[in-house]
Amino acid sequence: MKYYSTNRKASPVSLEEAVNRGLAPDKGLYMPEHINRLPDEFFRNIADMDFHSIACTVANAFFGDDIPACDLDKIVCDTLSFDTPVVNVNDNLFSLELFHGPTLAFKDVGGRFMARMLSYFIKKEGRKDKVTVIVATSGDTGSAVANGFLGVEGIDVIVLYPEGKVSEIQEKQFTTLGRNITALEVAGTFDDCQRLVKSAFMDADLNRIMTLTSANSINVARFLPQSFYYFNAFAQLKRAGTANDVVFCVPSGNFGNLTAGLIAARMGLPVKRFIAANNRNDVFLEYLQTGVYTPRASVQTLANAMDVGDPSNFARIMDLYGHSADAVRKDICGCRYTDEEIRRTIADVYRKHGYILDPHGACGYQGLADNIRPDETGVFLETAHPAKFRDTVEGILNTKIEIPQRLLDFMAGEKKSIRIPTGFDEFKKYLESIA
Ligand SMILES: *Cc1c(COP(=O)(O)O)cnc(C)c1O
Repeated sequence: MKYYSTNRKASPVSLEEAVNRGLAPDKGLYMPEHINRLPDEFFRNIADMDFHSIACTVANAFFGDDIPACDLDKIVCDTLSFDTPVVNVNDNLFSLELFHGPTLAFKDVGGRFMARMLSYFIKKEGRKDKVTVIVATSGDTGSAVANGFLGVEGIDVIVLYPEGKVSEIQEKQFTTLGRNITALEVAGTFDDCQRLVKSAFMDADLNRIMTLTSANSINVARFLPQSFYYFNAFAQLKRAGTANDVVFCVPSGNFGNLTAGLIAARMGLPVKRFIAANNRNDVFLEYLQTGVYTPRASVQTLANAMDVGDPSNFARIMDLYGHSADAVRKDICGCRYTDEEIRRTIADVYRKHGYILDPHGACGYQGLADNIRPDETGVFLETAHPAKFRDTVEGILNTKIEIPQRLLDFMAGEKKSIRIPTGFDEFKKYLESIA
């Protein structure tokens, strides 16, 4: 299958090229040329299928022409080393827990899948040169990508992150790994990190001496696999006998997760509607209200992985809906929550229902609670484990929360990073030294 750019200026490319490039040369995002509807039989039988077989069926619909079934099966199997359970919180509200992966956030699915797909293409081509993945992170992306690629043959990963601006837990998840993972601590902001990455991709000297790839969420190999767990959630609801009028509420930053849900719906998944939950970074809600999209600088909130002022996947949503705000509104409604409201939700849900939300999931839960009708089944995506935001959550609940062992293991590791200034010259010299 070919992938076209949302800007429609660059020519369509193969899956392999779309994965290698990340962003299209016209700066658009790649989209699959066809979104294949899955047969009715699949949805009839889905309650009897496990996550692995569900994901293989979905993966095959996208990647089946390009990757033989047995190889795709292996990529899916290696990716999904953990489950995504749907847990009832209260009444008709369910949490889709996406934090059971190695770094305790949903980005593990996309990160792991992309690493394995890239590695598959490198092996298939018999390429001798190594590929260097560079990724800028404000926290969670770095850990998911680094852990997803850890030990994957033929690939080196360089994570750039802003010094002093990620939590200790987040930092440990990509600075303690060693092997093929290097962490660069940039004396600046996340935007500086992103600028350095962009400059490296555009630098002719570097591109001559090394093969650089991005692993940001725009990559089709990170974004499409996120549709897997929408299907898996539906299967679980069906088994529980409550799969009618399903509404998904997605705590959103760059809108990759939500867009993957829209794709799942286009593939025939019976979703009644979506709710996009935002923190104070609410350009999407504003778009729904006014029909005008006005990106702006992000503001810092408790749900920091959603602190995005110009969501990259907005371009994909526009593409899916033919740039019509009315069409978007038919499927998606929006909501926004302040830090104060996030705190209140975390406290209330724990007190009333004994369920511990993280600040992102709190936006998702509240988005459902405020918009769901009694006859609907509401599912919010719980995108990270609350222990990743331990200080915030413990501060709100006034109680110690249990820290999962795999998080404690990261905490025990020794941080190793290389500090660099914000200027491109130093970063370039570093890359040249490892090429
Ligand atoms: C990345 C992230 C989000 C936002 O997801 P998008 O796909 O960028 O909308 C939400 N919650 C957590 C915990 C994240 O890490």
